[in-house]
Amino acid sequence: SKHIKLPAPALNEWKSHLEPKKNDIESIKKDIVQQTLETVCRNPYNLDNLAVYQATAHTVRDRLLQDWNLTQEAIHDQNPKRCYYLSMEFLIGRALDNALYCLQAKDNYKQSVKDLGFNLEDLLEQERDAALGNGGLGRLAACYMDAAATLDYPTWGYGLRYQYGIFKQIINSEGYQTEMPDYWLNSNGNPWEFPRSDIKYEVQFYGYVATKVNEKGESRMSWEGADRVQAMAYDVPIPGFGTKGCGNIRLWSSKPLKTFDFASFNDGDYERSVADQTKAENLTSVLYPNDNHNVGKELRLKQEYFFVSASLQDIIHRFKHTNSAWKDFPDKVAVQLNDTHPTLAIPELQRILIDIEGLEWDDAWDIVTRVFAFTNHTVLPEALECWSVPMMEKILPRHMQIVYDINLFFLQKFEKVFQNDRDMLNRVSIIEESNPQQVRMAYLAVVGSHTVNGVAALHSELIKTELFSEFIKYYGPDKFINITNGITPRRWLYQANPMLRNLITETLGSEKWVTHLDELKVLKKHAEDTAFQKKWMNVKLQNKIRLADWIKRNLDITVDPHALFDIQVKRIHEYKRQFMNILSVIYRYKNIQLLSEQERKDLVPRVVIFGGKSAPGYYVAKMVIKLITTVAQVVNNDDSINDLLKVVYIPDYNVSLAEIIVPASDLSQHISTAGTEASGTSNMKFVLNGGLILGTVDGANIEIRDEIGAENIFMFGTLSDQVADIRHRQKYHGVPIDPNLQVVLHAIQSGEFGGFETASVFGPLINTLTYGGDYYLISADFEQYLDAHDRVDALFKDTTTWAQKSILCTAGMGFFSSDRATREYADKIWNLKPITLK
Ligand code: PLP
Repeated sequence: SKHIKLPAPALNEWKSHLEPKKNDIESIKKDIVQQTLETVCRNPYNLDNLAVYQATAHTVRDRLLQDWNLTQEAIHDQNPKRCYYLSMEFLIGRALDNALYCLQAKDNYKQSVKDLGFNLEDLLEQERDAALGNGGLGRLAACYMDAAATLDYPTWGYGLRYQYGIFKQIINSEGYQTEMPDYWLNSNGNPWEFPRSDIKYEVQFYGYVATKVNEKGESRMSWEGADRVQAMAYDVPIPGFGTKGCGNIRLWSSKPLKTFDFASFNDGDYERSVADQTKAENLTSVLYPNDNHNVGKELRLKQEYFFVSASLQDIIHRFKHTNSAWKDFPDKVAVQLNDTHPTLAIPELQRILIDIEGLEWDDAWDIVTRVFAFTNHTVLPEALECWSVPMMEKILPRHMQIVYDINLFFLQKFEKVFQNDRDMLNRVSIIEESNPQQVRMAYLAVVGSHTVNGVAALHSELIKTELFSEFIKYYGPDKFINITNGITPRRWLYQANPMLRNLITETLGSEKWVTHLDELKVLKKHAEDTAFQKKWMNVKLQNKIRLADWIKRNLDITVDPHALFDIQVKRIHEYKRQFMNILSVIYRYKNIQLLSEQERKDLVPRVVIFGGKSAPGYYVAKMVIKLITTVAQVVNNDDSINDLLKVVYIPDYNVSLAEIIVPASDLSQHISTAGTEASGTSNMKFVLNGGLILGTVDGANIEIRDEIGAENIFMFGTLSDQVADIRHRQKYHGVPIDPNLQVVLHAIQSGEFGGFETASVFGPLINTLTYGGDYYLISADFEQYLDAHDRVDALFKDTTTWAQKSILCTAGMGFFSSDRATREYADKIWNLKPITLK
C-alpha cells in the first residue's frame, strides 16, 4: 500500500505523544501490570508464571522497539552501505534474559517482578528457545547478529520463520532417541517477533520460460505460468550491548496468495481450495533436521528459493527507495551467504537484473559478483549441496538456464587460461556430469561471489588446497580468505556465568571486557595468585553444583560436584567421534574394576556428560546414543565402583541447556578426526569459561592452542595431512585394531552392556571400525587418546596448576569474540562502517 505523507502539524502531533519508556522500578511495574491486563488478558486473581512472563516480555519488547526505531531512523538518515546476512538457520535461544542485560535493566526488573509477587528467574524459565537451527552454523549466525548490533553495523539477518524448529529429543526408556515436534509458536504467541502484515512478496515456482518483447522492443526471457505463494515478514529485534542500537532478523513465513480459491469452492471442491492453502503454508513449516548432511529433498529446494526470492525483493525494494542507479548497488549492498543454502540468490539476482530490470548480461553479472560473498562451512563430501538438474528444471526453469549460462561463460574464460585440459574443465564445472546431472552449489557460490571465506585457519587452508584447489589456479589465492569464527561474550560469559562475570569485572575494575574481550589478558597476571585461584575455582565449583542439581532434578542421577566434569555436547556425528569417547569410558570402567583399594583412592572421580541430537534418519549416530545410554545404565548402577565414574546423557541439548552446561566443565572434548571439523564454536565457549580442552589438532582448536598456550590444552591424534595416507593403508591392508580397543569391543560384543540381545544391536556400529574401514580413524587415534586422558587425570590432582591453567584459558580467549570476527567481515569483505547513533 502507498504510504501517506503527513502534513507537518499532524507529524508534530504524533511526535509529541511519543514518550520514551523508563527503566525505573515504578515505571516497569506499571508497564507489567498494564500488559498483564491488556495484552495477556489476565488479572491479579488468575495469574501464573507463564502469564507474568508474557506480560514482562511484552514490556521488554516495547523497550527494544524504541531502540529498533531509533536505529532504523539513523540508517534511513545516514543512508550507509548495508549488509544482509542470509542464513537458513538462526539458533537464537531465549531472548528475555539477554535483552534485560542489554537494556541494563535486569536488577530493576528483578525487583519489580519481586514486588509483584513473582521471581524473575522462574519467569525466565517459561520462555521457549527459538531453535531455528541445527547446531554450530545457526548459533554462529546468532552470535554475529549480536555482535553486529553491539557494534552498530547496519546489518540485518534474513532467515525463515519455521513453525517447527529443531525437534525435541526424547531419550526413551530403552535409551534410544525419539523425536517430538517443536511447535515453539504455541497458542501463547511469540512476544519476540513483530508480524509485518504490510511487508509481503510473491514467490513463484514451476511454470515455463517464454520470450517476450519489452517496451524498448528488446527480446527478454520471462518466467511464466508458475505456482505462486506469498512471503510475509516477521521481524525479530536483536539488542546490542552498551548501545542504543538494536539489530534485526527478518524471517519469512509462507502464506497462501489468495486466502481461498472461490472457483473450486463454488465447484463444490472445498477440499482442494483448502489444500492449496495448506500447501503454501507448509513451505516454511519445518526446519530440516540435518547437520552437515545434504539430503536433496524437493521441499528443501523450494524453501531455499522462497527464502532468497523474498529476501532479494525486500533488499531491492529498500535500495530503490534511495533513488540510486543499479551500478551503485554493490556500493550500497553487501550480501553474505552463510553456507551454500542461500546460493540461489546468485542466479536470482542475475535473473531480476536481466529479465525484469533489462540490464545486459555482463553489466548484471558485474553487479552480482560485487555483491555476494560466500562462507564455506565444511569440506565433508556428504555435506556439500548438489541439486539434481531435472529437479531444478522443474521447480526453477529460468534459474536452471541462467546457471547453465553462468557455467558456460565461466568455462569459456577458464579454458582460455587452461587450454586443452578437458578434465580440468570437468572438475571445475558447476554442472556435475553424473546421472542425473547435478548442480554443485559450492562451485556456483564461488563463481558468483567476490570473496570466499573458511571459518578457521586450518579449514581455510583445506578449502584452498582441496575443495577449491582448481579455482585458485584461475582466480589466484586472494579471493579465498580466512575469518576464524567467534562467539558473543554477552550470552556465553556475561549472561551464562554471572559469578565468573562478577569476579572478572571486580578483578579488571570495569565491564569494558564485555565489548573489548582482549582485556581478559589482564587476568594472566593473577594466574599464580593463590587467593585468586581459590576464588576462581570456587566459581567453577558453584557452576558444577548448578549443573549437578539440574541433573538430579531432571534425570535423578546423583553426581559429585567435586569429581572431574568431562563434557562432550554437540550434534551426534561420526566425524565428531562421540563413539570414541564412549569406547574410552568403557575402557576406564573396565580398568576401575581391576584396581586395588589403594589404587582406587588415587583415582580422580569422573562424571562424563554427553548431550546432542542425531539427525532422525542417521542410523549410526542413533546407535551411538544407544551405546552411551546403555553404558550409563550399567556404570551408574554398579555399586562396586562407587562414585569413581558416572555417565550422564543430557537429553534435548539446546542453547538454554548449553548456558548451564558450558560454565560447568573442567574438561570438554572436541575430538573430531583431523580435517573434518571446520571450526567448532562450543570449544571457544568452554575455554572462555575456564574449562580445559581435550581436543584433536583440528578446526579452531589449533588457534585456541596458539592463543592460550600449548601447555594449557590437551591435544592428541593424527594430524590432518596424515589422514589420507592412513585411510589409504587401511583400505588396502585392513584396520589394525588397537589392543585396548580390542578389549573394549570384546566387552560390548560379549554382552557386558545390556546383555547379548543388546550386543547384537551394536554389531553394525562396531562394523564401522572393522569391516567399514574405520574412516574416522578411531582405532588409529585410540592409544594417543587414552594417553591424553591419563595426562588429564594427573593434572587434575594438582589443583594449583589446574587452577592456573583454567585462568590462563579464559585470559587467552580475547581473539574469539564475535566482535572481532564481525569487524573482520565488515573490513575485509563488506566494506561496511558502523552508523552513528544519537
Ligand atoms: N548446538 C548448540 C545448542 C550450541 O549451543 C552449540 C554451540 O554453542 C553447538 C551446537 C555447536 O557446537 P560445536 O561447536 O561443538 O559443534
